[in-house]
This record gives sequence, C-alpha cells and structure tokens, in this order.
Amino acid sequence: MAGGLLNRIIRQIEMTGPLPLSEYMHWCMADRKEGYYSSQSAFGADGDFITAPEISQMFGELIGVWAIKAWEKLGSPPQFNLVELGPGRGTLMKDLLRAAKVSESFLNAAQITLVETSEQLRTEQAANLSSEYQITWIDAIDDISDAPTVIIANEFLDVLPIHQYVKRGDSWHENAVGTDEHGKLAWQLGTGLADTASLPDGHEKEPDGSVFEISPAREAVVENIAQLVKNNKGAALFIDYGHLEHGFGDTFQAMKSHKHVDPLNDPGLSDLTSHVDFSALKNIILNKGLNVQPFMTQGDFLLAQGLLERAGVLGSGKSEAIQEQITQEAERLAMPDQMGELFKVFAFSSCEELWPFTD
Ligand code: SAH
Repeated sequence: MAGGLLNRIIRQIEMTGPLPLSEYMHWCMADRKEGYYSSQSAFGADGDFITAPEISQMFGELIGVWAIKAWEKLGSPPQFNLVELGPGRGTLMKDLLRAAKVSESFLNAAQITLVETSEQLRTEQAANLSSEYQITWIDAIDDISDAPTVIIANEFLDVLPIHQYVKRGDSWHENAVGTDEHGKLAWQLGTGLADTASLPDGHEKEPDGSVFEISPAREAVVENIAQLVKNNKGAALFIDYGHLEHGFGDTFQAMKSHKHVDPLNDPGLSDLTSHVDFSALKNIILNKGLNVQPFMTQGDFLLAQGLLERAGVLGSGKSEAIQEQITQEAERLAMPDQMGELFKVFAFSSCEELWPFTD
C-alpha cells in the first residue's frame, strides 16, 4: 500500500529533516516492500511507460548482432560474461539470445548474468528466459565474476538517484523533500551546498532558481564497470535518454500510465527518472584509460545495425497490416521526432574500435 510508504517517508522527514532528492528517489524506487519496482507492473502498453525492447523484438535482436561483433572484437574468448543491468521483463535479453543463435560459439561461451534488485522482476525474467538458458542473477556490479565482459543496459542509468542543487544568490543549495504546513510532501532547500568546483562553466551567470543535477550513484556504476572492463577486457553499451553536454536544468520526472505526474504524489506508484549527463560519464572512462566510442543517437545506431533490413525480413510474406505494424515500430525506435534522437548510445571498451561507432 502506497499510504504505508508515504507515512514512513513523512516519519523519516520528521526525524531527520528534509530528504535530499537522491534519498527520496531511493525510498520511492528501491524500498523492498513498497518501492516502485517491487509493487508495479511498470512496462508495456498497460504499464506506466514503454521501453524500446517492449516496442519491438528488433531492438534486442540488433543488440544481439552488436554483442556478437563486440565479443569477436575482444578475440572471441571461450568464456565471457554477457551481462545486462536492469533487465526489466527480460525481453531484450530474450530477443538478443534468439538473434545470437547464428553464432553457436558465442552462445556456448556466454555466462548470462542479470543485475537486478527487484524480486518481482527477477521472477518475470526467469519466466521469460530460464526454460531455455542458464541464468545467474546478482544484486550488484561488484558480484560480476572476473572474465572478459560484454555488458548492456537499456533505460537503466536514468533510474538511478540524483542530487539536485538550486541556485540562490551565489550558492547552490541541495533540493530536498520536506513537508508543508498541512503535513503534505513539498519541495524545500536542504542544508547541503554544491562544491562550486564541480559545477559546469558559466555557473556564475546562471539566474536564481537555476538547477544543476549530479548522480554519484550513476557515476559509481560506470566507474565499477570501467574497472571490470579494464581488468578483464570488455565492451559496454548503454542506451538512455540524456544530453551530451554538461549543463543546467531540471530533468527530474515522474511517469504514471504514460503521463507526467507530480513526483511528490503517491510515492512508490510512479516511475521516477532523470536525463543522463553523458559527458560526466565519458570523463570517468577517459580517466580510466579506456576507449569511449563516438556517441551515436539510438536512431543512427539501429540503422547502422541493420534496422531496415531486419524489418524487411520480418515483414516478408506477412499481411499488409503486420508489415505496417513493423514499419511503425521501426519508425518509433529510430525517427528523430520519436525515440531516435533523444535516446543516445554510449559505448566504451578495452579495444579501440568497436562496430558500428566511427568518427
Ligand atoms: N531495461 C529494461 C527495464 C528498464 S527499467 C527495459 O528496457 O525494458 C529499470 C530496470 O532497472 C528495472 O529492471 C529495475 O528493477 C532495475 N533497477 C533499478 N535500480 C537498480 C539497481 N540499483 N540495481 C539493479 N537493477 C536496478
């Protein structure tokens, strides 16, 4: 019951003062009993949002083609970790593995590992995958075994908690969730201040009320994966919405039944996300001495992977209605005014070149 989570959050605020946004997000999303991913069936047309793998099987299949090429580029190791972070219902991995049947040696070498914190989603993933494949579930990236690793994640980074800082005068104050005079959740400024050295250039000129976001949780995930890839060789592919330049602005949002809602209403019942600052992540990889591949938009990436050809094969011999549906799915994934441009592909690897990323 959401009321229980709301009451616990209010009690926490009464005890410790306003919760920094990152803590509020953690309560809402990750609470074992009432957090969003343990209580909701979030994905798909009937859920709160629809992700690319749920739109079309082509998405996971084309990532399967990418994974095989990345594995070959790493020297086709006879044993490697094939890892997905935040696999949702397991649809992407299922489509990936089906497409990978063209390479028996890839499938034989793959130790399939899913990093998932939600028990409910683990059960859905098992229902989708376990009859055909041997899967290992782990809670955290630290538990990935030492071996060459190919790692993928779609719409995972955007769910990780962020801090927001709001400009007042010359200082940037932590945005926090407190309670108003009626005892309802309300935005307040917390006691934390941003270290101005961590702010993007030009912060002095930003107007009062300007917002800066940072996600130590996201940066820690990428840093840990970078270390794994550096130690063992590997390639990582992240697809998410976000911006390529460091900047200012409030990108925090809550979605319920495909609509934007107030993130302070009904904690645990809406999906809380924010846009990914890819430039912050790129710097982490470069500092590790790994190769960041040139950024691509989702649209360009899928087209380079053969989206149109795959759509043609999938539709051949089918009814006009099915062909039309496949065309619409391809457009939704790749057209700039749909998911094609907002979603970016961020890839890094121990090897220099990685298909299909070129300058
Ligand atoms: N990749 C899927 C689902 C995206 S939703 C798709 O594209 O459809 C985010 C996923 O990340 C969910 O599976 C959620 O349970 C998982 N998740 C959220 N926080 C996590 C964390 N800290 N560690 C591991 N998984 C997490």
